[in-house]
Amino acid sequence: MSCLFCKIISREIPSSIVYEDEHVLAFNDINGQAPTHVLVIPKRHIETLNDLEPGDDQIVGELARRAAAIAKDKGIAASGFRTVFNTNRDAGQTVFHIHLHLLGGRKMAWPPG
Ligand code: 5GP
Ligand code: ZN
Repeated sequence: MSCLFCKIISREIPSSIVYEDEHVLAFNDINGQAPTHVLVIPKRHIETLNDLEPGDDQIVGELARRAAAIAKDKGIAASGFRTVFNTNRDAGQTVFHIHLHLLGGRKMAWPPG
């Protein structure tokens, strides 16, 4: 398995882990774009949002709820945060294992670049 995030899950590649349970891992982005920049991923390898199936609804819900819980822990739930899934080329996806970006701790611009 050559997937970078699968290697992070297996500890082959070190990361700064924020949360872990049976289905989900969350770790700090190596190139943070905000004071909080956490990646929330499923432990099961799914390449992009285009590959989701009805049976994946539970895990996607877990990613969203975990991002909100981490935002609360970091003290940015009330001030606000942004959650993003980038999909394929035009969105700039570089790692093909779905990951929910959690960004916060500063004002976010809209529309995004
Ligand atoms: P994408 O562009 O695919 O939406 O996001 C991939 C994210 O993974 C980027 O924000 C990038 O900084 C982050 N990233 C890439 N390689 C590593 C790594 O080895 N460790 C960690 N913690 N983050 C990484
Ligand atoms: Zn993977």
